[in-house]
Amino acid sequence: MRNRRLIDSFGRVADDLRISVTDRCNFRCIYCMPAEGLHWLKRDDILRFEEIARLARLFVDRYGVRTIRLTGGEPLVRVKVEELVGMINSIDPTLDITMTTNGVLLRQKALALKEAGLKRINISLDTLHMDRFEGLARSDAYGRVMDGIQAAREAGLWPIKLNMVVMKGRNDDEVVDFARLARDEGYEVRFIEFMPLDGDNIWTNEQVVPSLRIQEQIEDQFPLVPFADTRPGPATRFKFADGAPGGVGFISSVSQAFCTTCNRIRLTAEGGLRTCLFSLHETPLRELMRSGVSDDHLGGVIEAAIWRKEEGHLINQPGFVKPGKSMSQIGG
Ligand code: SAM
Ligand code: SF4
Repeated sequence: MRNRRLIDSFGRVADDLRISVTDRCNFRCIYCMPAEGLHWLKRDDILRFEEIARLARLFVDRYGVRTIRLTGGEPLVRVKVEELVGMINSIDPTLDITMTTNGVLLRQKALALKEAGLKRINISLDTLHMDRFEGLARSDAYGRVMDGIQAAREAGLWPIKLNMVVMKGRNDDEVVDFARLARDEGYEVRFIEFMPLDGDNIWTNEQVVPSLRIQEQIEDQFPLVPFADTRPGPATRFKFADGAPGGVGFISSVSQAFCTTCNRIRLTAEGGLRTCLFSLHETPLRELMRSGVSDDHLGGVIEAAIWRKEEGHLINQPGFVKPGKSMSQIGG
């Protein structure tokens, strides 16, 4: 049966699937992962490419999912991840296949990813200063990340979005510089509010810089005009009023949650279906698949899980409970 939609009990349609291909990472960003890393999943517990592709086909063919984003952990540390991109692309070459990466391996991988069918890319970059980068990512790979961004561009992975997690006192003095970079290079910079999904439990509301404050700082220098988005998304997007290339977007998960229009669902590296970043439970699909169930059976489990999607998260409300998994274990 084709193109039934995945609808939850609040009437939202899920058509944007994020697939985590690994929980491992070669960085240790302070807002995401502890310095010593995490307890990594065993190889056998991670979905194989064939298993991911089977689920992707189900989501696309049966439920009309149009956007698939590969993420992690760091997706480029998964060996031959470009083969998975090719497998997903062969389901439907018009699919919007994207990736979120820290960029450090892009010089080696960008062309292969493009040739396999990756359409767009988001690269995380939180500072334009090498010394600060070492403090934030706990890595000395700043130069390689900058070169990776260039490699993505050369490979034709365009448009490029840069993800910046803004933390008070750490990098919030750079937001105007990032807006200038967007204008100079034609990137869209997405300013992301720091969410309570870090592995070290360092999150406090005081470290969150509300998107409106960032927008004010940018507009002092570069007036913005809203960008009319044809598809719903987490970011409020703007172009520059003077017609300069590039743009900015704000992901205000903490100060102005976008839950009422959320169309995202997530598959963790071990095959857990999550309906929200902040879900306190997930629906395990791996053992079900490995036990040999049919697509109809699997589809029934998926539909029931999506129906139960939470109305929204409760950050800053008394009932908020931090999920047991951090961002890299979920797949941001
Ligand atoms: N390793 C890849 C990367 O960093 O781009 C992909 C996975 S990472 C978990 C996905 C995105 O989540 C990145 O843009 C990262 O900056 C963001 N992120 C991680 N922890 C976060 C947090 N606590 N709050 C907000 N964004 C976070
Ligand atoms: Fe790794 Fe991405 Fe988390 Fe940084 S944000 S530690 S690059 S998974």
